[in-house]
Amino acid sequence: MRRVSEPVVVVGAGMGGLSAAIHLAAAGERVIVVEQNPTVGGKMSEVHQAGFRWDTGPSVITMRHVFEALFATAGRRLEDYLTLLPVEPLTRYFYPDGVVLDISSDPARMAAQLARLDERDIAGYRAYLAYAERLHRLTSPVFIYDRPPTWRSFWRGPPQHAFQIDPFRTMDRAIRSFVRSPHLRQLLGRFATYVGASPYQAPATLNVIAHVELSGGVWYPQGGVYALAWALARLAQELGVELRTNCAVEQILVKRGRATGVRLADGGLVEAKAVVANVDVATVYDRLLPPEVGAARLKRLVRFEPSCSGFILLLGVERQFPELAHHNIFFSGDYPREFDRIFRQGLPPDEPTIYVAITAKTDPQHAPPGSENWFVLVNAPALGASFDWQSEAASYRELVLARLAGFGVEVRPHVRFEKILTPLDLADSTGAWRGALYGASSNSRWTAFRRPHNRAKDVAGLYFAGGTTHPGGGVPMVTLSGKVAAELVLEDLSRAEPLKSPPSLRQVF
Ligand SMILES: Cc1cc2nc3c(=O)[nH]c(=O)nc-3n(C[C@H](O)[C@H](O)[C@H](O)COP(=O)(O)OP(=O)(O)OC[C@H]3O[C@@H](n4cnc5c(N)ncnc54)[C@H](O)[C@@H]3O)c2cc1C
Repeated sequence: MRRVSEPVVVVGAGMGGLSAAIHLAAAGERVIVVEQNPTVGGKMSEVHQAGFRWDTGPSVITMRHVFEALFATAGRRLEDYLTLLPVEPLTRYFYPDGVVLDISSDPARMAAQLARLDERDIAGYRAYLAYAERLHRLTSPVFIYDRPPTWRSFWRGPPQHAFQIDPFRTMDRAIRSFVRSPHLRQLLGRFATYVGASPYQAPATLNVIAHVELSGGVWYPQGGVYALAWALARLAQELGVELRTNCAVEQILVKRGRATGVRLADGGLVEAKAVVANVDVATVYDRLLPPEVGAARLKRLVRFEPSCSGFILLLGVERQFPELAHHNIFFSGDYPREFDRIFRQGLPPDEPTIYVAITAKTDPQHAPPGSENWFVLVNAPALGASFDWQSEAASYRELVLARLAGFGVEVRPHVRFEKILTPLDLADSTGAWRGALYGASSNSRWTAFRRPHNRAKDVAGLYFAGGTTHPGGGVPMVTLSGKVAAELVLEDLSRAEPLKSPPSLRQVF
């Protein structure tokens, strides 16, 4: 019989792991979080250097209500831990032909911008937003806020829902049916990249992402996006969660088909009544589970195309660029070619779309006076055989900065500090399989059904929270995944002590 005081162990202090820990601790469980890095946050991280400060992962925070609900679960108020500021414009878009657009969630401001492109798109854009809102209404109960979807839960709604969620067209085809301006089409298609996908392959259902940002707005945690990770870590600790950093897990222990704890890299053992893995699910099956347990599922998981990765430059810039906003996009002239390079050729784009975030626009203390902290991000393919970042990173950095110069934004003479992060770094620092930012790509209409369940199918007492499990990647989504994983743990623990192993596993071991 297990001791009541035996903890639930959470492997990884990414946002999904912290969320799971908070939900479990709020329900009265003893929780230990073991994190391999010196700090919490996982992909949400920060760097301080030479008087500059950068967020190195997520920079666009949406769905504020998800974080409010997390704090409310613990009887707390988000605003006592964190100030979320609205960002306006949401993003400034630069096009190769000189057009510049400031995107806003305010309908009047947005109409003024669209009038400069094509008057007819004012109505088209309004209709597109209503369509995206409808997608959100239809899909979110099944695909976002509930347990992992099944065909049965999907068909629970009226049969016409299956067509109303628009799974058979691509995102791009649907966008074209609403708006005419190529500028606006490219802008709306870009939301596919929020889940590491291509607008020319991903199902139109993913236009739901546009609703979340364009109608719901973008939020910036004062002090930097990383303040969100700190806020969750603080809340977790207040609830009694034990956070152990610099503490890598070498193996998840499995006895008779059931997770019984973890073995640490330093040889220590932590027994557990349940294990929540916040690590990329493919990495768990590849490296953390004993081979006889993980091999078969790993084979299945790696069959799926990975989402894209990222190439990042952190630049300390000794000048200010008043023409730039907090969030900026410099679009390529041939968007389809860019995604073809990433997903079909496995190569970084030769004419990339470039994202530049400058938190010093909102938090001036993130850079010395008269300077700016640039976070530059370009979509890149997941790691594969076609491209060698070790030898090519420096020349790709030059290509990216030369392209910015082509927009009249010449930053190169003003760079006082810089750091390059490639998909190799993303894989190393967070355990992301092939450096993919969001697990399996959403280029298929079946992705939501194929995503690994938050309850491991082949090991009892093992659960998953994070971007590679339900409901998917992105900070609000992984926060929700922590909730689902915690609910499943609590449900299973309340049923029986000890839990029963699945019959199939009893036969195997
Ligand atoms: C460059 C970049 C830009 C992004 N932009 C955005 C954005 O603007 N908006 C947005 O919403 N999302 C964005 N994302 C995605 C978002 O950051 C992720 O979806 C989310 O943070 C992932 O959280 P997670 O819970 O899956 O855990 P992860 O962040 O993947 O953390 C997993 C944790 O597990 C730890 N770990 C791994 N192996 C072990 C082990 N063996 N032992 C102990 N610990 C281990 C890792 O160190 C890590 O801390 C971006 C991501 C990146 C990289």
